Amino acid sequence: MHRDESDTRHLEFLLTLRRRGIGDQAVLRAMGEVPRDRFVELQHIDTAYADQALPIACGQTISQPYVVATMTEQLRLRPHHRVLEIGTGSGYQAAVLSRLAREVVSVERYRTLAEHARERLRAVGANNVEVIVGDGMLGVPGRVAFDRIIVTAAAADVPQALIDQLADDGGILLLPLGPHDGPQRLVRLTKTKDGVAREDLIAVRFVPLLPGQAREL
Ligand code: SAH
Repeated sequence: MHRDESDTRHLEFLLTLRRRGIGDQAVLRAMGEVPRDRFVELQHIDTAYADQALPIACGQTISQPYVVATMTEQLRLRPHHRVLEIGTGSGYQAAVLSRLAREVVSVERYRTLAEHARERLRAVGANNVEVIVGDGMLGVPGRVAFDRIIVTAAAADVPQALIDQLADDGGILLLPLGPHDGPQRLVRLTKTKDGVAREDLIAVRFVPLLPGQAREL
């Protein structure tokens, strides 16, 4: 791609996010800094900066940039936060989070996706991301509580293990809730010592959160 053309696409990409309502400057900066073209499959490289989800390996998808930006914004990140992501996929959301938080742990049930994501994250200098292969519905046993947890696959119910692994001093769990083939809502749960408060955000469309590590690669 010609350099000017690529700059223009990049500006349009950020302009679209702003126009759609992303106002957090730190989130916009992070979205501007992470090269999405490094996280899509080669055959989709020309549409890397279009505001659409794209297919990746193992029948999964890299989320639409607007949804990545909205989820990142709604997570209310602070630079000292430790973040857990369930559903590494391409690694793109993890790369965006890595620029806004101290540390990101990301869990993926497909080994192939996890390995590719690790390579891409290393290539873009996201050194504070750890990718783990496993079933994220179980959280990451043995780790201390996370300040923020983001799930990038749709769950029918809130996995209790994730609530348990959330800090109780205002920890936020953000996840798409709903059936695999029906309406899903992005939901934010905020945990305090008094209990868990729930807010419904926007309508979304995600691949399903599935139990267990994937048997195929
Ligand atoms: N955040 C990704 C998009 C993820 S698509 C990105 O930025 O590209 C959802 C991902 O969740 C898929 O890769 C899928 O394999 C994974 N997934 C589904 N159920 C899971 C589970 N129980 N544990 C870990 N990963 C899971």
